[in-house]
Amino acid sequence: MSSFIVPRHTYHGPGSLENLKEVRAKKAVIVTGGSSMKRFGFLEKTIALLEEADIASVVFEGVESDPSVTTVMKGVDLFNRENPDLIIGLGGCSAIDAAKAMWVFYEYPEVTFDEITAPFTIKPLRNKARFVAIPSTSGTGTEATCVAVITDTAKGIKHPLVSYEICPDIAIVDGELAKSMPPNVTANTGMDALSHDVEAVVAALASPHTDALAVDSVRMIFKNLPRACENGEEIEARQAMHDASCLAGMAFSNAILGIVHSISHQIGGMFGVPHGRANAILMPNVIRYNSQETDKYSLLAQALGKKTVEEFVIEIEKLRERVGIEDSFQAYGIDPKAWEEKLEAMVENAMADPCTGTNPRKPTPEEMRMLFQCCYSGETVHLSKIKKAG
Ligand SMILES: [Zn+2]
Repeated sequence: MSSFIVPRHTYHGPGSLENLKEVRAKKAVIVTGGSSMKRFGFLEKTIALLEEADIASVVFEGVESDPSVTTVMKGVDLFNRENPDLIIGLGGCSAIDAAKAMWVFYEYPEVTFDEITAPFTIKPLRNKARFVAIPSTSGTGTEATCVAVITDTAKGIKHPLVSYEICPDIAIVDGELAKSMPPNVTANTGMDALSHDVEAVVAALASPHTDALAVDSVRMIFKNLPRACENGEEIEARQAMHDASCLAGMAFSNAILGIVHSISHQIGGMFGVPHGRANAILMPNVIRYNSQETDKYSLLAQALGKKTVEEFVIEIEKLRERVGIEDSFQAYGIDPKAWEEKLEAMVENAMADPCTGTNPRKPTPEEMRMLFQCCYSGETVHLSKIKKAG
């Protein structure tokens, strides 16, 4: 028995931010990041639209990238003072993820962070407020997922919150907001969305519902990511990428992910490589490795008119190059000595990452190490050796 959970209402299309007027509530807290939503006028516009709908609003701004527990708790204090019945996450994934975590502590002031980081332990929300997500980046699809990532800066640990309770009630997928992304962010986040499709289609909980979304999302990303990177003002490409990222979010939120993410979490944590950029480097070799176990990547190959999985992998490599992403972590600039020093810890942590459990193939530590090493040097993964090791 399986389920499929997505936001109750998704507004999409250029200018769909206007739909905020249709939301019914008394008071909103808008949670947003640094300055881009303000600079591009979207914060002001959001406040004006709420006003038109007779919804009072208060702003919590300054959510940093990789939002911290401290920031979340500051937001909760504001929620407790203002008593909103609507929470709006506006901006990049960090702002929306932080708002999701604030929502949990606003509804359950007595719970601790440790209590909610075990998967699917968050109690029913929506007793105090509903949640609207308005993303400005086209990557994580957090507007449509059951995931939020919060960093404990004191301990240096990233906590994933995973619960269908934190899937937003309303997602507003307006490509106009995505124009605020510079080309490198467009490239990195777009490749993250692609990695969600690639992982979801072979993950443990993949279903016809998630496959359909992943297949179409892949088609849209290949067609539109280069255009969105090369001409960020082109709204058609921006909207298509925004939609594709949302579809990929819906797919992976229900199918879950695999070892592209297990490995990427370590390299991101250790060396600060942007998440989507790391995924772009990892995808080809992980697909080659997993394809000895599953033939489901052929769905994605067919979506691009390719006959074999290897042809699909080559298309990913070409796309990666076209959007300006390196083909290895060495080329990205990670020092070989620093890499060697951290390798064993990264392999161990990747083995223990929750995404490893839903990968279609169960890697041995040796295989995991080989994947790390080949992606560091830019070699094609040595499948013959891996077969022996396995
Ligand atoms: Zn991701």
